[in-house]
Amino acid sequence: MASWLHWFRRDLRLRDNVGLYAACQAGDAVAGIFVIDKRWFAADSEKIGPFQAAFWLEAVAELARSLAKHNINLHVQSAGDPVKAVVELAQKLEVAGITFNKDYEPMQMAQDRRLAQQCEKLGIKCRGYKDAVGFEEFEILTGSESPYTVFTPYKRAWLTKLTAEPQVPRGLPKRPSRALPAGGKIPTALALGFESVQLQLATGESGGARMLEFFCGEAVYAYQNERNFPAREGCSRLSAHLSCGTVSPRQCFEAVRAAQGAAGRAKPLPGALAGCDTWLSELIWREFYKMILFHFPRTVSQAFQMRYANIAWANDAAAVAAWKTAATGYPIVDAAIKQILTTGWMHNRLRMIVAMFLTKDLDVDWRIGEQAFMQWLIDYDQAANVGGWQWSAGTGNDAAPYFRVMNPILQAQRYDPDGAFVRHWLPVLKDVPTKFVHEPWLMPPALQRDCRCVGGSDYPKPVVDHAAARLRAIARFKPDKPSGPDR
Ligand SMILES: Cc1cc2nc3c(=O)[nH]c(=O)nc-3n(C[C@H](O)[C@H](O)[C@H](O)COP(=O)(O)OP(=O)(O)OC[C@H]3O[C@@H](n4cnc5c(N)ncnc54)[C@H](O)[C@@H]3O)c2cc1C
Repeated sequence: MASWLHWFRRDLRLRDNVGLYAACQAGDAVAGIFVIDKRWFAADSEKIGPFQAAFWLEAVAELARSLAKHNINLHVQSAGDPVKAVVELAQKLEVAGITFNKDYEPMQMAQDRRLAQQCEKLGIKCRGYKDAVGFEEFEILTGSESPYTVFTPYKRAWLTKLTAEPQVPRGLPKRPSRALPAGGKIPTALALGFESVQLQLATGESGGARMLEFFCGEAVYAYQNERNFPAREGCSRLSAHLSCGTVSPRQCFEAVRAAQGAAGRAKPLPGALAGCDTWLSELIWREFYKMILFHFPRTVSQAFQMRYANIAWANDAAAVAAWKTAATGYPIVDAAIKQILTTGWMHNRLRMIVAMFLTKDLDVDWRIGEQAFMQWLIDYDQAANVGGWQWSAGTGNDAAPYFRVMNPILQAQRYDPDGAFVRHWLPVLKDVPTKFVHEPWLMPPALQRDCRCVGGSDYPKPVVDHAAARLRAIARFKPDKPSGPDR
């Protein structure tokens, strides 16, 4: 038998970890490594932010404990070049091979190619596994063998494939009979220079499992009806777990399949099955965007639709600052920004509203919003974030059409009808009558004074007039307007 090393990245769990499982099959001794990549995982990197750093490091700490009980020691190292750190440890431990779970981000894929090359030179086996998705880049293609760029047919093909090839989770990996030496201490996010934050989510593999069990045991049945209302607990909040791999997609597929079964039998609630189907559909969006990023890596920084590549964004600094500091004067936008700044998470409906507001109403480049979300989000995931921003800006594949510009007031009135969400995050609106809560500038001056919400002093006046901004945005994006070469 031999020793193997598993490189943990976005798969911070012991159960249903395909690469780790394989390492434990191949070797009688297994070690793990997690590299704190200083280019990303640093307070001054302007990449990931304090919520993601804290959430990930708590997950790593729990992982180290559960691995140790399984006779596997985890090495945690800070490095500027993760490949070098992994190869050096592999040589030091004299392992026969390295396993890792595949990632679909361009930078990570380049790194994995480099690892494979170095391993080949050194005679170390190197094996990458599909783990982060049910179906990966070449498993679901159109009839002409090209990637899907439109979601609905992709989803249809994905569901057909799932029926033919159910993706079921593995349990625990085999317990190695020998332990390899331990190494490295797990820092806190604070020790790495990140500001202190209060995490409002259960962390680690155990926290993710509890959240999944609760959601698919109950809340999923109401998902279809509740998921768009930010003041309600209508969605799973599992995104941070899926993003760092404390929950696997297969565990989600299995949990929702069990919920579908139960909905058909014991719980014939109206909308229960639709809730399950819609939630599964969201998980397919996650896979869709990973597949898109794999096939179109240029979209991390370029419009998917080349005719929008050269749009001249206004990028007004004051507008960007108002958006980033929750001072746009539009309560739903400002409350959403407060939510993300305070918790690291923002409701999906609000992500669409604030992204459209930045790109369409304020005429700011989607890449500026994408960068801000990268630093703010606890669940930052390059594929979903770029996909979500390009969808909202209208530059992406299968994006919102150029003439559909969300109206932040109508959206707020529809999805926060009594103003509970905006009042929670903007206490200045506490006494504003519901009729005006999403457009407080319409209150007569005396009423503004009565409810201590005077425009321009207690709460900002709107930075832009939505109706006029909408028309300007449509004109900018109109397909017949020359806006760059179509390559
Ligand atoms: C501008 C913008 C930026 C976004 N950035 C991210 C990001 O960085 N990371 C991220 O995980 N999601 C991102 N999303 C997608 C979505 O908003 C979040 O996944 C969702 O709000 C997370 O909450 P939840 O776990 O309760 O989701 P649920 O509604 O419970 O959905 C279940 C899971 O499906 C996946 N999912 C749901 N919607 C989407 C979607 N539209 N695209 C891709 N996956 C989806 C997530 O993994 C999510 O946890 C973004 C959306 C927009 C519009």
